[in-house]
Amino acid sequence: MSVLAPQPPGIPRPSPSPVSRPYWDAAREGRLVYQKCANCGHVPPRPLRRCWRCQGGELRWLESSGRGRLHTWTVVWRPQHPSFVTPYAPAVMAVEEGWWLVTALVGCAAEDIREDMPLEVQFHPAGGDIWLPYASPRA
Ligand SMILES: [Zn+2]
Repeated sequence: MSVLAPQPPGIPRPSPSPVSRPYWDAAREGRLVYQKCANCGHVPPRPLRRCWRCQGGELRWLESSGRGRLHTWTVVWRPQHPSFVTPYAPAVMAVEEGWWLVTALVGCAAEDIREDMPLEVQFHPAGGDIWLPYASPRA
């Protein structure tokens, strides 16, 4: 039974765009941020220029608690890319502020993952200036 760990630097990395740059800048500082529409309150699943719901152009960046619960996950034993170390557990975390974070679990064994388990985000370097959010169990 091995404990899930962050991927080593060298995995394929995102390329920040002008729209997503604030997210990646915050991640490098160990902060989880998200956008929320100032008009209708919608929280989009990824950084946007305009709100999907109301077409409003004022999407504010807010800081997340980084806490939430496990919504769903899978455990990968055969990687789709040779740079990934297995096993790893891609997951969707329901963040306290009402949005979803696509992440990967660390700090527990694959056999100990449970639906709705409390999680908190931690950041690990992925190479370049990219730090990725991972979710680990919290007490
Ligand atoms: Zn809106």
